[in-house]
Amino acid sequence: MNRRAFFKFAGAIPGAGAMGQVGNAPRLEAKVVRLNLVHTWTTTMSASQYRDTLHVAYARDGITGRGEGAPIARYHEDAESARKAVESVRELLLSADPMRFAKIMAEVFRRVPGEWAGKASIDIALMDWVGQRLGVPLYGYFGLDPRDTPLTTFSIGIDTPEITRQKTREAAEYPILKVKVGLSTDEATIEAVRSETKKPLRVDANEGWKDKEEAVRKINWLETQGVEFIEQPMPAEMIEETRWVRARVHMPIIADEACQRASDIPKLKDAFDGVNIKLDKSGGVLEAYRMIQAAKALGMRTMLGCMVSSSVSITAAAHLSPLVDYADLDGNLLIANDPFRGVRVEKGKLILPDKPGLGLTAG
Ligand code: MG
Repeated sequence: MNRRAFFKFAGAIPGAGAMGQVGNAPRLEAKVVRLNLVHTWTTTMSASQYRDTLHVAYARDGITGRGEGAPIARYHEDAESARKAVESVRELLLSADPMRFAKIMAEVFRRVPGEWAGKASIDIALMDWVGQRLGVPLYGYFGLDPRDTPLTTFSIGIDTPEITRQKTREAAEYPILKVKVGLSTDEATIEAVRSETKKPLRVDANEGWKDKEEAVRKINWLETQGVEFIEQPMPAEMIEETRWVRARVHMPIIADEACQRASDIPKLKDAFDGVNIKLDKSGGVLEAYRMIQAAKALGMRTMLGCMVSSSVSITAAAHLSPLVDYADLDGNLLIANDPFRGVRVEKGKLILPDKPGLGLTAG
């Protein structure tokens, strides 16, 4: 759906804004939105020129809460399955009191198997609605100081050395880069980035190294290249092997694919130094908050990451970012047709909107 069509859809919801308060009945719309990428996005898992995400608008009492989930193929989800998941709890969402959002989300988690992006789209829309109803920005609801947001990295997907150099130049304003590796071209990729910049790098292997000796070798080489940490060097299930690797390298190792929800975190201690938390994996803001607290309680570092998505999902995650050590919240910066504006990035620093809820405005 293009931007114009999206607003037509949003405006058609009674209570969704100036377009018309037709009645006071709560309304829920769930639509798949196609986000066009600035560059073809390649990781070890996929290559694509667009991403379809699920957008939810929950309108009640003249307030519209907006949510979004970016389905992850790894968890057997797509935008259509996410949409169906939201539709399956439509009656619950329309009949329940949104101020009891934690109870609602517990029930959604109980009823809907999988479909984490679909759950996230509901959770985010409810949190946006509640923040607007209470008149507080989402960070304020959690008692956070917006000045405490970390720098976000800007991601460089896997590409030819020539394009990698071009992307590195285009990312000049970002003080830290996150570079995707995990294919046979790892050294060439890092060397291409390093030929353009001396800034700190973080590297994500997306489970790309299947052999623990190879992982140790590559991580120790990355250490000589000014890399701050390595994300998910080995397949998610290879926790024992990752523990073996961690004992042989200095660089912090961050879990991404190995860590979906709070209950995954205890078994990762000693194999990883920290966890990458994403709303699309956790099923929304509430579970992401629990994950941050669980990781901190275990003495692990925390990171907020994202999938390619619009400012709806990225802004929701950014509101929790004052809590974490690292942010990789650039999914909205990689798309050409963001239907909303929310969090901004200035010289890498996340700047949160101070309006109630997510604080979104039309893109
Ligand atoms: Mg990752």
